[in-house]
Amino acid sequence: MSIATTIELISNGRAAGTTCTPDLAAPTWDFDSVPGYGPGSSMSDVIPTSSPRQGVIPDEYRNAPDDELHERIERAKATLGDRVVVLGHFYQRDEVVRHADFLGDSFQLANAALTKPDAEAIVFCGVHFMAETADILARDDQRVILPNLAAGCSMADMADIDSVEAAWAELTALYGTEPDADGRVPVIPVTYMNSAADLKAFCGRNGGIVCTSSNAATVLEWAFERGQRVLFFPDQHLGRNTAKAMGISTDRMPMWNPRLAGGGNTAAELLEAQVVLWHGFCSVHRRFTVDQIEQARREHPGVTVIVHPECPMAVVDAADVAGSTDLIRKTVAAATEPTTFAIGTEINMVNRLAAEYPQHTIFCLDPVVCPCSTMYRIHPGYLAWVLEALVRGEVLNEIVVPAAVQVDAKVALERMLAARPRPLAGQRDPGPAATTATTTDVRA
Ligand code: SF4
Repeated sequence: MSIATTIELISNGRAAGTTCTPDLAAPTWDFDSVPGYGPGSSMSDVIPTSSPRQGVIPDEYRNAPDDELHERIERAKATLGDRVVVLGHFYQRDEVVRHADFLGDSFQLANAALTKPDAEAIVFCGVHFMAETADILARDDQRVILPNLAAGCSMADMADIDSVEAAWAELTALYGTEPDADGRVPVIPVTYMNSAADLKAFCGRNGGIVCTSSNAATVLEWAFERGQRVLFFPDQHLGRNTAKAMGISTDRMPMWNPRLAGGGNTAAELLEAQVVLWHGFCSVHRRFTVDQIEQARREHPGVTVIVHPECPMAVVDAADVAGSTDLIRKTVAAATEPTTFAIGTEINMVNRLAAEYPQHTIFCLDPVVCPCSTMYRIHPGYLAWVLEALVRGEVLNEIVVPAAVQVDAKVALERMLAARPRPLAGQRDPGPAATTATTTDVRA
């Protein structure tokens, strides 16, 4: 199978043996049969017992050589034509992305699917919360398929509805529910796009909102116009980095550990809080360090360091640029002179940028090859399996968000779409928050 190919691709010329786990080179189906996120950066994270499991798929896909799988995928796609759209996330492995119609981040892809009105099926080569978002935004008659049900997201799984509702009950008991003199309620829930649909719905029901890494500052501004403080989940780093850039002191950003009473905080700390940060993180972006940045600067004088805001605060502070996957792409694309970029985000995306812009020197800040293990769960065998089933008229691995959850989640998503950055003095209304930057139409 294509694990070796993947390792070769993601290694991109690095010395053999510099991967984060030898399991990356193990036979594909060995790790797929065990519960967990698979080999890669989040393989040690605790997987919730309620997470979907992927059953064993037929031997004809497990035993097929790479070339045959690619041929079968292409044939199935050709047969289905516009009836199917295949979406590939920036962090997805190359041997899957080569079959994608669109390449983008989670929200861009969910929107890209809407540009294909004839598509009866949306095959999302990403992770579970992304497929849920696509289902929320898709037409009722469109079916959303996740090729491997075990492709969750360890960060999204760090906040579940029961824990968030329990935290909300504690916080509202402490803060009360009365607005202040400016009409601002005591607390507003804000969830990152990387969260389960029921958490987006929770925000919709409770006056809250969704954010992406592109528009988190605008969304926090929106929240502070309506609330005295924010409960931000699940990614502490995006919340902290965004709030700090807005001038909020880190002393007023306590962390909420869902396993502890009061989240591990005193009542006084919570009353002083402006942003209560959920104890969640992305295992991929947590790997980046200030030492790696210093090393890159020593070895490549003049290097431009770009990191994703899911990285720890010290890393974001030490970088030249911090921003979403879309901003990372745009920063590289905008460089008119040959430039050296050290990038702190998932390795598949970094290596794809390096291949796309050979005039620049582009490398991953982390010298150890460690892909997003949950994306890694989807490989061509699963894609061939779901596509050939569609040709036969069968829908496998459908992701269905219950109607009531969809309604409330849409409220929170629509608030995000309507949120506008605050105009600077003398500036006209800059329009809605940046949420729908373009995907790459791979077929274009
Ligand atoms: S990179 Fe991190 S946040 Fe993104 S899907 Fe993987 S584990 Fe989740």
